[in-house]
Amino acid sequence: MNDTQDFKVFADQLADIAQWAYRKGWAPATSTNYSVRLPEHAAPAFCAITSSGVDKETFEPDQVLAVDRIGMPVNGCTLQPSAETLLHVMLYHATGAGAVLHTHSFAAALLSRSVGECDGLKFSGWELLKGLDGVDTHDCEVILPVFPNSQDIPALAAHIKTRLPLTKPCYGFLLAGHGLYVWGKDIATAKRHLEVFEFLLQCEREVRSHGYPANA
Ligand SMILES: [Zn+2]
Repeated sequence: MNDTQDFKVFADQLADIAQWAYRKGWAPATSTNYSVRLPEHAAPAFCAITSSGVDKETFEPDQVLAVDRIGMPVNGCTLQPSAETLLHVMLYHATGAGAVLHTHSFAAALLSRSVGECDGLKFSGWELLKGLDGVDTHDCEVILPVFPNSQDIPALAAHIKTRLPLTKPCYGFLLAGHGLYVWGKDIATAKRHLEVFEFLLQCEREVRSHGYPANA
């Protein structure tokens, strides 16, 4: 497969993910962004990412572009990369992930404002935790860190990079009042992690609204 064929496969997959997330209700009002790291031989192209400000309901593969290791478009592309491209690039460098997905679900936006940056959201006792790479029991605790939101994306990327808990498994984080970032070794894994956390966030929201603890 050559670079052009590789890119077309990835662009198709990202368009499918974007439309799927819209149908789930996780990508309202042109929000959210999705990317995949490209093979080494595609350099200087580093990752493929959805372009900025496009309705995800009708997102098409030709609205995906390649950016380099610092998030700049390559190959003379005139599409505008997502405003949050630097967060994706930072996550590839910091975690070694193969795909990064970012959603704006109601549960993520709401719950991200309910805890402080130090605490994060803790999940334990849920069977679906086993959907996360390396987790084989519900009897564990997984933390979803929460970081303050910002429109200064370079500063936000630097802030998060120094605070990611990389000494233990970390699959994603929340931006307060904003949404959810998840990653995985490839698109399929990142998609599975996204489904796990969106499910767990909905569970947590229901638990809180009904006033009983998760493991009662
Ligand atoms: Zn966003």
